[in-house]
Amino acid sequence: MNIESVFTALGLSENDLNNGDLVVTSPVNGNAIAQVKTHSAAEVDTAIGKAKQAFEDWKNVPAPKRGELVRVLGNKLRDHKEALGALVSMECGKIYQEGLGEVQEMIDICDLAVGLSRQLFGLTIASERPGHRMTETWHPIGPVGIISAFNFPVAVWCWNSALALVCGNSVIWKPSEKTPLTALACQKLFDLAAAEVGDIPDGLSQVIVGHADVGEQLVNDTRVPVISATGSTAMGRKVGPAVAARFGRSILELGGNNGIIVAPTANLEMAVRAILFGAVGTAGQRCTSTRRLFVHDDIYGELVPALKKAYSGIRVGDPMEQSTLVGPLIDKQAFDAMQSALDMAMVNGGEVVGGSRALEDTYPHAYYVNPAIVEMPEADQTVQTETFAPILYVYRYTDLDRAISLHNDVPQGLSSAIFTNDVREAEKFTSAVGSDCGIANVNIGTSGAEIGGAFGGEKETGGGRESGSDAWKGYMRRATSTVNYSSDLPLAQGIEFNL
Ligand code: NAD
Repeated sequence: MNIESVFTALGLSENDLNNGDLVVTSPVNGNAIAQVKTHSAAEVDTAIGKAKQAFEDWKNVPAPKRGELVRVLGNKLRDHKEALGALVSMECGKIYQEGLGEVQEMIDICDLAVGLSRQLFGLTIASERPGHRMTETWHPIGPVGIISAFNFPVAVWCWNSALALVCGNSVIWKPSEKTPLTALACQKLFDLAAAEVGDIPDGLSQVIVGHADVGEQLVNDTRVPVISATGSTAMGRKVGPAVAARFGRSILELGGNNGIIVAPTANLEMAVRAILFGAVGTAGQRCTSTRRLFVHDDIYGELVPALKKAYSGIRVGDPMEQSTLVGPLIDKQAFDAMQSALDMAMVNGGEVVGGSRALEDTYPHAYYVNPAIVEMPEADQTVQTETFAPILYVYRYTDLDRAISLHNDVPQGLSSAIFTNDVREAEKFTSAVGSDCGIANVNIGTSGAEIGGAFGGEKETGGGRESGSDAWKGYMRRATSTVNYSSDLPLAQGIEFNL
C-alpha cells in the first residue's frame, strides 16, 4: 500500500492535502506528506457556533436513532479498516498491526455505543414523601470538545465521539498538530455515514486543525460544556484549571508511568512476552507503555537475561513491513528526550543496554531507536517522569509491600500489572492497599485495554474515564425529578410551613 492509494481510499483530495500552512511529516522517513489548512480563530468560532446549533437539533432525535448513525459509522470503519490503519502507521509511525488494532478499537466502541443508545438508564429512587415519585434522568449536555494526542490519532476521537453522539451531543475535534491527516480521514468517513443515514444536522461532528492555541480557544469557550483532553500532564495542567474556571467539565486523560511487578511464582515466559509488548510496542509511545519493572530477587537472574535476549531479537524498521515490531519515534524531540533520560539514568547508577539510534543511514531524517533496558540500583524512589520512548527501568525487590509502595510512589496513576500465581498476591495488588492506578491487571501487561472497561487513571493522569462501564455519564447531564401525584404538599424533612 503506498500513501497515494491510502489517501484515495479514504477520500482525501488534493484540496485536503495541499491547501495549507501546516506541514505534515511522516515519522517513517521524515518526508513531508501533506500541507493542511489550519483554522483561524474566526473559523473556530464559527465551528463552535455550528456545533451548538447541531446540538439543539440532535438532542431531539431519540437515542436509538442516534445510535443508527454510530452503527453506520462503525460499518464505514470496517470498510476502510486497512486504509485507515495504514494511514495511522504512516502518520504516527506505529506498526501496521497496531494501526489496524487502533481502527478495530474504533469499531468496537461504535458497537458498544450502539448498544448503549438503547440503554442510557436512569434511576427510580424511593421518596420519603407519600404519593411522590423520584427519578434520575440523563440528558444530552451540549457540544463536546475533543483534544487528542499524536500517539492514538484516531481511537481517542472515537472513544469520545461514539459515546457523545449517542448521548445526544455534537462533537468538535482538535487532533494533534502532528497527526491531522488521520483526523481529516475520520471526518470523511463520518460524512459518508451521515450521508447514508440522512437528515443529520450540519456540523454534528467537525475537525478543527491547529496548534495549542486552537485547543485553547475550544477550552475557553462556554458554549462547549465538556472538554475531553488527552495528552501530556503539562497540557492537562493548563486545560483542567481553564475549564474549571468557567465551570465546565473536563475529562482528562494524561501521562502514565506504568509498572509491572513480577513475583517468584509468575509464569516467566508469559511475563517476558507481556513486558516486551508493553515496553516496546508503539516504540514506547503509549500512555500505558510499561516503563518500570519490579522483579523479585529469586527470579531476577532468570527473567532479566531472558528479557535482554528477547530485546536483542526485536526488529526495528519501517512500520509497514510485516516483520517490524518497533517503528520510529515521532520526531527528533522525542529522540533527544530519550537520550537525556538515558544520560540521567546513568548518572543515577543505571546500567543501560540499547537505546542507541538505529537505521540512521537509511532514514537520516527519521528517528528509529533500539529499545533500552536500564537496570537500576536500589533507591528510595523510582523514576518519577514519563519519557515517551522505549525505556524500561528495572528494579529488584524482595518484599511485595515494599514493591507496591515503590510502584505507587510516582505522580502518575494510569496502568499497572502483577505477574503471579499466588492468589493472595494477586488479590492484594488489585485491592485498596495494592496498586493505586486506574488500571490494575493480573497476568496481563499494562497496555492493550479492552473498550468494555472504563479507561483512565488517577493523580497526574487526570482522573478522567472514557470508553466502557458507565463512562457515558461523563457526556450527559443528570436531572433529579420529584413528581407529586398526591393532593397534599408535604415538605421534605417533615418541615411544617403553614399559613
Ligand atoms: P501533548 O500534550 O503535546 O498534546 C496533546 C494535544 O493537546 C494536542 O492536540 C495539542 O495541540 C493539545 N494542546 C497542547 N497544549 C494545549 C493547551 N494549552 N490547550 C489546549 N490544547 C493543548 O501530547 P502528545 O505529545 O501529543 O501525546 C503524548 C502524551 O499523551 C503522553 O504524555 C501520553 O501519556 C499522553 N496520552 C495519554 C492517554 C491517556 O488516555 N491517558 C492516551 C494517549 C496519550
